[in-house]
Amino acid sequence: MAVRIVIAGGSFGGLTTAYELRRHLGPDQATITVISKDRRFVFVPSLPWVAVGRRSLEQISFDVAGPLASKHVGFVHQVVTGIDTERKGVATEGGEHPYDFLVVATGHRSANEAVEGLGPFDGPGHSPMSAPEATELRSAVQALLEQPGPVVVGAAPGASCIGPVYELAFELDHLLRRRKLRHRVPITFLTPEPFLGHMGMGGAGKIRQLLEGRLEERDISYATSAAVKRITADAVEVEGASPLPSVLSIVIPPLAGIEAVANSAGLPNPKGFLPVDAHYRHQVADGVYGVGVAVAMAPVGDTPVPVNFPKTGHMTEQMAQIAARDIAARIAGRSEEAAGELSARCVLDMGDRGAYLAVDPVRPPRDAIPTVSEGRRWLLAKRVFERTYLWHAERGRRMPSTLGW
Ligand SMILES: Cc1cc2nc3c(=O)[nH]c(=O)nc-3n(C[C@H](O)[C@H](O)[C@H](O)COP(=O)(O)OP(=O)(O)OC[C@H]3O[C@@H](n4cnc5c(N)ncnc54)[C@H](O)[C@@H]3O)c2cc1C
Repeated sequence: MAVRIVIAGGSFGGLTTAYELRRHLGPDQATITVISKDRRFVFVPSLPWVAVGRRSLEQISFDVAGPLASKHVGFVHQVVTGIDTERKGVATEGGEHPYDFLVVATGHRSANEAVEGLGPFDGPGHSPMSAPEATELRSAVQALLEQPGPVVVGAAPGASCIGPVYELAFELDHLLRRRKLRHRVPITFLTPEPFLGHMGMGGAGKIRQLLEGRLEERDISYATSAAVKRITADAVEVEGASPLPSVLSIVIPPLAGIEAVANSAGLPNPKGFLPVDAHYRHQVADGVYGVGVAVAMAPVGDTPVPVNFPKTGHMTEQMAQIAARDIAARIAGRSEEAAGELSARCVLDMGDRGAYLAVDPVRPPRDAIPTVSEGRRWLLAKRVFERTYLWHAERGRRMPSTLGW
């Protein structure tokens, strides 16, 4: 009988796992089913572009059912409501899905409640962390263009996804300069990082100096080790400082695991993430794997204000490939060697140019000195990567991770 593999989540982690599994296992060896609450794959790294009006959601997303079917992978469009690791079943609103192997790739829940007023739908603060939130932010950016005023862009204590906040600060600066409105919009950048470019991974090469220089050059004030505590309609309050006037407050929240994982006995850590080993197997639950933002990763050292370890798209793909190969090896009766530590590549959009960062491994100490490079070509590379990634993913093909992000 074919082995039953269920994958919860249909984004970077879920799709990469499904495609990689099919490269190793034919339909006679394994049934593979992806369960996702969203029918569309969204290229999340482009959400800041949605927020500043440079992309529509349609341009950066596609329906996953067709590409998965072309790989003989089933698709269930349902919300996962719980996981029973004893019975080995995934509960959805439509019924239970039994598994022999389960890969949890359900990403995060934005813990917006960590900052009073963060919203975005029930408070004045904004965030680009999901498609609906980025769309809401887009309207707020349009309103700023009509009625300019001070802006705060930042990350809350405990945030782990700091890169997009830098991108939004630079993109807003660029947009306002093109509209000849920058002189009417003071921008302040607030980060829990102990220094710019820490990014939750202890910094990397000269990224700190690059970011300090570029923020100063563009007249963007900044504060590090900043603990944002409250957002009101016209200000952002930070621990130990006077409130900063702000008509547009964009603050990235700390992340937690989704409720279905957080509430499943024997599965989550206290934050709702999955504790995994070097193969991305759950440390306790038999047959369960976790990949992407859903997994628990300890912060890199202590910082005065908490900053968490980033789980980027590039890292998510590496985790998915390791997990898929491990499952295939176990089904074939082999034991797969655990791959080494994760590396990270990413391109930061700085409005009129990009900055490329390659770090290997992500956690210090590192074998290689991180590469930091800046120029217009990286912005072009980021746009080409987005198009190429979507083109491949929509055709059931996996992108080589080495191309960068
Ligand atoms: C604004 C922003 C910009 C970023 N920019 C970059 C970048 O430039 N480079 C980079 O490498 N990384 C970037 N990242 C990080 C990257 O997007 C994540 O690492 C990546 O999305 C993680 O993929 P994932 O599959 O783990 O989770 P997600 O992409 O969050 O996907 C989760 C999946 O699970 C599904 N799901 C959730 N809950 C349920 C449920 N209860 N039932 C069923 N399905 C469920 C969702 O529908 C979705 O399909 C960025 C992140 C953000 C938010």
